[in-house]
Amino acid sequence: MLEKLRKIVQKVNAAEDLQSALRIIVHRVRETLEAQVCSVYLLDKDINSHVLMASEGLNETAVGHVSLPVGEGLVGLVAKHAEPINLQDASLHPSYHYLQETGEENFNSFLGVPIIHHRSVLGVLVVQNDKRHRFDEGEEAFLITLSAQLAGVIAHAEATGAIEGISPSGHKTSDTIFPGVSASSGVAIGHAVVLFPLADLSQIPNRQASDIEREVEFFNSCLNAVRKDIRDLHSKIAGHVAEGERQLFDVYLHMLDDDALGNEVVERIKQGNWAQGALAYVAHEHVRNFEIMEDEYLSERAVDIKDLCSRVLFYLQEKETVITDYSTDTILVSEELTPAMLAEVPKDKLKGMISIKGSGNSHVAILARTMGIPTIMGAVDLPYNKLDGREIIVDGYKGEVISNLSDQLRKRYLNTIKEQDLLIAELDELKDLPCVTADNHRVNLWINTGLISDVIHSLDQGAEGIGLFRTEEPFLLHERFPSEQEQSDIYREQLRAFAPKPVTMRTLDVGGDKALPYFPIEEANPSLGWRGIRVTLDHPEIFMAQIRAMLRASIGFENLQIMLPMVSNVGEVNSAMQLLKKAHNELILEGLEVKFPPIGVMIELPAAVYQTRALAKLVDFISVGSNDLTQYLLGVDRNNPRVADLYSAFHPAVLNALQHVVSEAQKEKKSVSICGEMAGDPGAAVLLMAMGFDILSMNAATLLKVKSVIRSVSLGSAHDLLEQVMQMDDAQMIRSAVDMTLYDSGVDRLLRSSRTN
Ligand code: PEP
Ligand code: MG
Repeated sequence: MLEKLRKIVQKVNAAEDLQSALRIIVHRVRETLEAQVCSVYLLDKDINSHVLMASEGLNETAVGHVSLPVGEGLVGLVAKHAEPINLQDASLHPSYHYLQETGEENFNSFLGVPIIHHRSVLGVLVVQNDKRHRFDEGEEAFLITLSAQLAGVIAHAEATGAIEGISPSGHKTSDTIFPGVSASSGVAIGHAVVLFPLADLSQIPNRQASDIEREVEFFNSCLNAVRKDIRDLHSKIAGHVAEGERQLFDVYLHMLDDDALGNEVVERIKQGNWAQGALAYVAHEHVRNFEIMEDEYLSERAVDIKDLCSRVLFYLQEKETVITDYSTDTILVSEELTPAMLAEVPKDKLKGMISIKGSGNSHVAILARTMGIPTIMGAVDLPYNKLDGREIIVDGYKGEVISNLSDQLRKRYLNTIKEQDLLIAELDELKDLPCVTADNHRVNLWINTGLISDVIHSLDQGAEGIGLFRTEEPFLLHERFPSEQEQSDIYREQLRAFAPKPVTMRTLDVGGDKALPYFPIEEANPSLGWRGIRVTLDHPEIFMAQIRAMLRASIGFENLQIMLPMVSNVGEVNSAMQLLKKAHNELILEGLEVKFPPIGVMIELPAAVYQTRALAKLVDFISVGSNDLTQYLLGVDRNNPRVADLYSAFHPAVLNALQHVVSEAQKEKKSVSICGEMAGDPGAAVLLMAMGFDILSMNAATLLKVKSVIRSVSLGSAHDLLEQVMQMDDAQMIRSAVDMTLYDSGVDRLLRSSRTN
């Protein structure tokens, strides 16, 4: 059964569009279960009905025409309860709804299972027989397993149609919404520019050819290059390999020589597609055709086609560096956005970003917030390679991507953008005002930085210090570890820009989702592995170079603080302290007048929460990294969009941990700050202030919003709110209570514009 299941899923996966996917499903399921009927009904939201989309066994003429309004019939009942229904005689069930066009009166037994994707029911998979006989348990379990596996494929196929403005049953639609996770708030309207990794046929976007003749010529020259390579290889290996293997090269040459592949690609280019896109399309078609063949030998040939086409693609990409043409309203789209991709787009052209992988708490998302670019991550169902050049909306408030815009919707969003700009202009007036509550309590707002551009931007916003300088960011831009001198120059720039205000530099925090290209760490479970201080203590040469560079950079400014990431025990702090003292002594011996800076520990692991007091005794300050702390307390990967809705800094467990850290640090009379994204959420900032955090360190883009909220509440009301939420046991309730307080303080406009979950 497992083999049959695997085969069906594989074939459906290879289908070209929704219709063929559904045809494969009904054919294969009917055959496997030896049923007389197998049908798929899909929900078409535009007509609020379940439409019979494919069937074997029912009248063919009914397919695509017959539908049941939502909630009606047995299909409606399966969908409503999201549970299977298995009946010996369907016609006796009160919900049975006879559909004359289908000819289903001939069938008595009925088994319907829901097709569920991300908690929503896409449709129902049905099998029927004429015998009055319930389908057995094994058959029911098979259908449930299959349906669960196919849901994602069906959703993807539906989405591919939706992007062209077509509903599952073929109706024209507009304003198609693809959900994702908000990574940076704000709204942007613009044109998609899809970035894709090289040499990957599956990720080449559709794009128009700018000069068809040139494109054909270019493609032919690349094809010739591959022909030559294969002939060379063919003669090189003559006599070295078995005849069977040598024949493979003949097959390759044949594929190229009879011009089968080449001609098809050229035809597609002539229809307007660019060479890479045309090649990817033809490759996909051939691979699909081979993969679904029953014959093992023939289906294996799909691999050869992929290999051959990848060779041609290599030449296409090698010979012509793709110069991405960024429009003035670029929405950057990629399967996985990287900091390097952002760096390439001219800043004035970048309006929004979309990443299929990742979530709102990943480091790219943090970068997006720092830059104030509306961004959606984890839009897993978005068929992004169909998106290039299309006009789309990024709604970073709701976490949605919208395509096929109607005039009405476009107008509405243009208004939102205007409001957004107005709010930013109003907030600008707060820049030089102090951050004090209505009852005169002073709150220190600092900022998080990475690159020097952040620093310049944040000085503009009136930041009073740097609470977290992520030193790994400049490391990311290098091709090797930067030398002590290079680091010292980078650090000095930050210290100088902020002097005499304090600058908190965190020692290198790599590992987890922060990989350096020149220092790859392969681990089964990177978040629980070698990261942060664990790496640097194991590599004292890297740690020493970094802290020496920091200390040297601070000479003359004396505004440096050093902070240690991912600490899980006192031993790590003791070891780091020894190295810090050693570095300091070395520099003194070298004749440099370096002051020993205040040292801090980050509380990011549950273990550290419960050792706050012991850790505080060893250092000068404590800083909570609530991004990782939330991840580790809730057991929710901060990068995984599947569980992004479980990631909430308002979870009572997180709030309790934060309060515990503050009170323990206070017992040791040590300053306590927070530098996770939570500090930049205006609602959360009110709670953190009430808890007693001395410093809130955040993205520069959110600083004025937080200031605006703090200036409009009193410390007294913040204490009342904290007391109230600490009695609650649910993150959503807490979020609502916080929102209500902001409404009451008249800053509700800010609510929409900046929130963590
Ligand atoms: C944190 O974990 O909250 C933090 C500030 O560090 P990073 O986001 O860089 O892991
Ligand atoms: Mg962290």
